[in-house]
Amino acid sequence: MKKFERSIEAYKEAVNLMPGGVNSPVRAFNSVNMDPIFMERGKGSKIYDIDGHEYIDYVLSWGPLILGHADDRVVEALKKTTELGTSFGAPTEIENKLAKLVTERVPSIEMLRMVNSGTEATMSALRVARGYTGRDKILKFEGNYHGHGDSLLIKAGSGVATLGLPDSPGVPESIAQNTITVPYNDLESARYVFEQYGDDLAAVIIEPVSGNMGVVPPDENFLQGLRTLTENNGTVLIFDEVMTGFRVGYNCAQGHFNVTPDMTCLGKVIGGGLPVGAYGGKREIMERVAPVGDIYQAGTLSGNPLAMTAGYETLSAMTEDQYAKISKKVDRLMEGFQEAATENNIPYTVNRAGSMVGFFFNQEPVTNFETASRSNLDMFARYYRGMIEEGIFLPPSQFEGLFLSAAHTDEDIERTIEAAKKVFSTL
Ligand code: PMP
Repeated sequence: MKKFERSIEAYKEAVNLMPGGVNSPVRAFNSVNMDPIFMERGKGSKIYDIDGHEYIDYVLSWGPLILGHADDRVVEALKKTTELGTSFGAPTEIENKLAKLVTERVPSIEMLRMVNSGTEATMSALRVARGYTGRDKILKFEGNYHGHGDSLLIKAGSGVATLGLPDSPGVPESIAQNTITVPYNDLESARYVFEQYGDDLAAVIIEPVSGNMGVVPPDENFLQGLRTLTENNGTVLIFDEVMTGFRVGYNCAQGHFNVTPDMTCLGKVIGGGLPVGAYGGKREIMERVAPVGDIYQAGTLSGNPLAMTAGYETLSAMTEDQYAKISKKVDRLMEGFQEAATENNIPYTVNRAGSMVGFFFNQEPVTNFETASRSNLDMFARYYRGMIEEGIFLPPSQFEGLFLSAAHTDEDIERTIEAAKKVFSTL
C-alpha cells in the first residue's frame, strides 16, 4: 500500500485554512473516500505527489494540459514572457495572436473577449445574450455544468453532482426562476419549453458533448434540433465548449458535429494550464459588448500575457495530426477497458466523442443525467482507489471524463489497461 505521510500532513494543515482543505470541491476526493493527494510536479504524461509517487495522469488539471505537463515549448515561451513583465493592464500583441488563432479554428467565433475562467465566460455570455435579446429566461440541461454563476448553478453536473448538491443555497429564487432545465438529449422537452416560454427565452446553453456527468455525447440530430428551435425563435444558442473546445477535435465540438451556435464559451485548453476563459460569437452580438456596445464586462487580468502565451503555444502545437494521434490512443484505451470489463463481468459502458472519453460502471446506455446517476458509485470508488495503488491518476468522480494528452505514450496506455485488468479482477 502506498503511504501518503506528507500529503496527510499537508491536508491536516489545509483543512483549517480552506473549506475542505481545497480551492475547488472535487479535489477533496470525498466521493472516493480518500484524503486528497498533494502534488509537487508533472512532466509529460506523468504527475508526482509530495510523497514521491509517480502516476500516469488522466486528470491533466481537468483538461487544459492537452500537451501534457510542462511541455518544453510552453515552458520556454513562458520564461521569455515572464522576463518582460507579467501584466500591463494595456493591450499586447499576444492577445491578437491567440484571438486570431481562435477565430480561425472555431466556426462560430467572429469576435471574442478573453476572461480568466470558464465560469466568467459563461456568466458573461449569458449577460450578453440577455442584453442582446432583451429577454431573461434561459434553458439549460440537467447534468451540464457551466461554472458556478448564479443562473447556471441549477441541476448542474461536475462537483455539484458528485457531492449531491443539485441546487445551491445562496442563489436567489428570483434568479433561479429564470433558469429552465430539461434532460439532456430530450429534444421534445426542449420543444415544449419553447412553446411555453418562447417569447422570454434569451438563450439555450449546452455542453455540445456533456463532460460533467461523465462523458455523454449528443444524440444524432439533438444539436441540430436545438439550432433550428433557437433560430426560429430569435434565441441565442450558446455552446459551452469550456471542456470540449480544442479537446474533442481541431475545430472543437461544433466542427466535429457541424452545428454552428451563435456564441461559444471556451476555457481550459485555450489557456494551456494558465487561468483563461473566453466567450465569442457573431460580430453583431459581440459588438454589443463595452466599450463598442452597452453591455458591460471587464477584467483586470483578462488577456494576461502569460496566460495568452501558454494558450497560443498550446493551440499552435495542436495540429490536426496531433488530434488524430490522441484519438487512436483513445481507441486503444476503450478497447482495453472493454476487454478488462468483459473478462471480469463488470457492468460497464463507455461513451466517446472525438478524443473525449468516459467510462461508467453501468450496464445500460448512458444518455443523460438520470442514466449516469444509476452507475455503481461504490464500485467506482473501489476502482479509483485500486488505480491509485497502480500509479494511475484519474478524476476522482464517476461524473467526470478522463483526459489524454499528446504526451501519453502507447506504453502508458498499455500500463493503464493492465492496471484496469488487475483492479477490475478485485471488484
Ligand atoms: N463549463 C464547462 C463545460 C466546464 O467543464 C467547466 C469546468 N469544468 C466550466 C464551465 C467552468 O470553468 P472554470 O472551472 O474554469 O470556472
